[in-house]
Amino acid sequence: MELISRENPARITEIVGRVPATGADGVDAAVRRAGRAQREWAARPIGDRIAVLRQAGETVTGRAGELAGLLARESGKPLADCRGEISFALTYLRWVCDHAPRVLAPAEIDDAAGRLVVRRAPYGVVACLTPWNAPVILAMVKLAPALAAGNTVVLKPSPLAPLAVGEVAAALPGVEVVHGGAPAGRALVTHPLIRKVAFTGGDRAGREIAAAAGAMLTPSVMELGGNDPALFLPDFALTDDDYERLVMASFATSGQVCMAAKRLYVPRARLAEFTEAYRAAAERVLVVGDPLAAGVTMGPVISAPAADRVRGLVAGSVARGGTAVPLGRAHGDLESGYFVTPTLVTGLDDDAPLVAEEQFGPAVPLLPYDTEEEALARANAGELGLAASVWSADEDRAFALATRLEAGFVFVNTHNRTGMSLRAPFGGVKRSGYGREYGEEGLLEYVQSAVAHAPAAFRGGGDGMPATAYPA
Ligand code: NAD
Repeated sequence: MELISRENPARITEIVGRVPATGADGVDAAVRRAGRAQREWAARPIGDRIAVLRQAGETVTGRAGELAGLLARESGKPLADCRGEISFALTYLRWVCDHAPRVLAPAEIDDAAGRLVVRRAPYGVVACLTPWNAPVILAMVKLAPALAAGNTVVLKPSPLAPLAVGEVAAALPGVEVVHGGAPAGRALVTHPLIRKVAFTGGDRAGREIAAAAGAMLTPSVMELGGNDPALFLPDFALTDDDYERLVMASFATSGQVCMAAKRLYVPRARLAEFTEAYRAAAERVLVVGDPLAAGVTMGPVISAPAADRVRGLVAGSVARGGTAVPLGRAHGDLESGYFVTPTLVTGLDDDAPLVAEEQFGPAVPLLPYDTEEEALARANAGELGLAASVWSADEDRAFALATRLEAGFVFVNTHNRTGMSLRAPFGGVKRSGYGREYGEEGLLEYVQSAVAHAPAAFRGGGDGMPATAYPA
């Protein structure tokens, strides 16, 4: 059997673990097992399913510390981040358990017009394909609502971080896990028994998967990349803590977060003040080193190609006249893994690849603007529209501008994880995807309406409507 080895990106000589690569036959068998399990799972009352999910959450909670260590070693994310991710995933699972019975309850009407029941029916077997950057939460945000609704799931995590999420999935009922890259993903998405596809990842894979699902008439939800602007209005008022939060909004997980602050638009008149405070905050809060070492807030990037790509973006920026400002402090040996110096880049035009494309790494451009309208137009440029942020001392002004930003989620006076809410739907506009995760919409993503209806006119052999009539 072919095995996939995963190295520690902070110490690349260390193999953290291995998973078996699933071939096409293995994918077929997993989908069929999930299909058989689904009927029994869906037939159980939702209260029973929720009780099983709560119990599974308790099991994972008992292992959270151990799983955070595993996640840190396979992904290169600092231990505190990994603890936070697992704890957030468990909190979301509880949120689903608390809210699914109400949100997924059938709507029933029995009145003078007839009897109508609208059920929230599960799709069947759902295929979930997830990336490596937040493997546990990005799987949980699919698994929990899908399972609560009565679906079963075949999960294909990224081969770059398959270990911790594999352990979490094994604790949940109704989940099969298959391993591998694009070939395993393709076999899964195109399997005839798959009734819904949930994908989080990049543009290229997203387009291919959406097309493959479309060719099968399988509905999909797509959570794709972003190039989030952070827009500082002329009256912005940031404390030292705010600057630290802003730095981490770009550099947490080494910048490899879909909703990281990826472009900073600052009023030209306040550029010097901003730059100085930003650098000082980075010096305090950004410590690059081994993810398991105490005090480290930024680890390596995920792989050698990722490191080369980000370094290339910075070198290309300098070649076109930009200035690269290294940020933060190093802790220990940074030669042992895929470490990239966190960098602020100034002096770029909006056509520079670091500005126009999703960098997905620890380099962020700082871009001065002259008028608010100009800043808004520049923030809205491009094909991506995942998240954005507006920073202002006047919350009403920020909320007014938020309605004019082309993004699925606008954070006010913060950005990235610190601005998330379990009750708010999350997802992109434009080419950042479609469908939503979290909130009630995230639950409804895994059901479709199914109706039973007895018109009153024909109940009890009544003297109802003529055969050609529409109801009044
Ligand atoms: P990726 O697209 O390379 O891979 C995602 C998953 O799809 C992996 O499991 C991968 O093995 C699989 N895959 C890749 N190609 C495939 C194909 N042709 N057919 C079937 N499966 C395929 O993404 P990545 O590099 O792991 O993640 C980075 C991207 O994910 C970034 O663009 C980031 O912005 C995005 N992302 C988006 C969100 C969101 O919520 N919108 C969250 C996290 C990451």
